[in-house]
Amino acid sequence: MLQNIRVVLVNTSHPGNIGGAARAMKNMGLSRLVLVDPEVFPSEEAVARASGASDVLAAAQVVATLEEALAGCTVALGTSARDRQIPWPLLDPRESAAVCLEQAEAGGEVALVFGREYAGLTNDELQRCHYHVHIPSDPAFASLNLATAVQVLTYEVRMAWLAAQGRPTKMEKQEAAAEENGQPVTLDELESFYAHLEQTLVEVGFLDPERPRHLMARLRRLYGRSAISKLEMNILRGILTETQKAARGEPHKRRDR
Ligand code: SAH
Repeated sequence: MLQNIRVVLVNTSHPGNIGGAARAMKNMGLSRLVLVDPEVFPSEEAVARASGASDVLAAAQVVATLEEALAGCTVALGTSARDRQIPWPLLDPRESAAVCLEQAEAGGEVALVFGREYAGLTNDELQRCHYHVHIPSDPAFASLNLATAVQVLTYEVRMAWLAAQGRPTKMEKQEAAAEENGQPVTLDELESFYAHLEQTLVEVGFLDPERPRHLMARLRRLYGRSAISKLEMNILRGILTETQKAARGEPHKRRDR
């Protein structure tokens, strides 16, 4: 899924930032880097800053225009250090990661577009993007280093991707719903459970009927807190029945089979 997300750097001046962006991407599991008319590339400095991510640099695609970089994309998100530069659908990095994952899951191709160190993206470039993304930095000092901005966005993409990995399957959701929908027990069912519990505790010698010491009241308070379903009640009753059999030396359920 992460293969469907590309990072596009437009007209980058410092090769060190290209290397830093490559490293940030690889740390977050992204590998598709597209460079639009970089000032210096390939470069030793980029390789040095990429640290172990020189494979991302080596595979980087270099193109002349943003249009070429966006070829085949279904959604482009343009980042801007300035909040509401032009009126446009504006997302924060977390929201933009959700858009990226949704698109990628549906088989779409997504571009995260980053601008020049000194001038950002032009209005024309921003208008080629469906959404604008602003990292909510302090307005008094809003502009992040280019590679740092790449790190923030790719981190959010990774978090969204990780959450998607842990997402329960349809089957798990149905099973959980069936369990959750378990009917609550009625008061009389609860009463006969308490009677069964008390009888069992006496039989196993945990409760002395001569000196009950508020035990049943405390247990009622405990079970009363837990909104027991019918299914759970059946489990508890089953445990009590087996406990009684064990205390009486009767055959065990599993040994019965
Ligand atoms: N002076 C430029 C700053 C560009 S910073 C300007 O005002 O636009 C270089 C690139 O880093 C930006 O084009 C953008 O892609 C990214 N960037 C920096 N700070 C950002 C922020 N707060 N939100 C989103 N992207 C940011």
